[in-house]
Amino acid sequence: MSDTIFGKIIRKEIPAEIVYEDELSLAFKDVNPQAPTHILVIPKKPIPQLDTATSEDRDLLGHLLLTARKVAQQVGLQNGYRVVINNGNDGGQTVYHLHLHILGDRQMRWPPG
Ligand code: AMP
Repeated sequence: MSDTIFGKIIRKEIPAEIVYEDELSLAFKDVNPQAPTHILVIPKKPIPQLDTATSEDRDLLGHLLLTARKVAQQVGLQNGYRVVINNGNDGGQTVYHLHLHILGDRQMRWPPG
């Protein structure tokens, strides 16, 4: 499976502002934030995108959502936040290692661009 910049962050080969880590997942600040708080939650398993996850990943996918909630609480997003998965070209995905965006500390708009 091809490596990505997130694989290098998991292996600590390149730096990142890590805010949470457990045996299955890692959360770190987005280098190009789209909100005052913008954190990425990724699985350590190199799943390229939501489309390539399988039923074997069911528990892991649930873990990622619960991790996003835990991280949002940890960084103090008491007023709400948005969780986003960009999938594939039309979804705007640029890094092909599954990740959840946590965006907060500003009012989100709908529909998204
Ligand atoms: P997506 O467009 O959904 O694939 O999101 C990829 C995200 O990864 C973008 O928001 C980028 O700003 C972010 N990103 C890319 N490289 C890094 C990095 N080295 N450290 C932190 N965030 C990164």
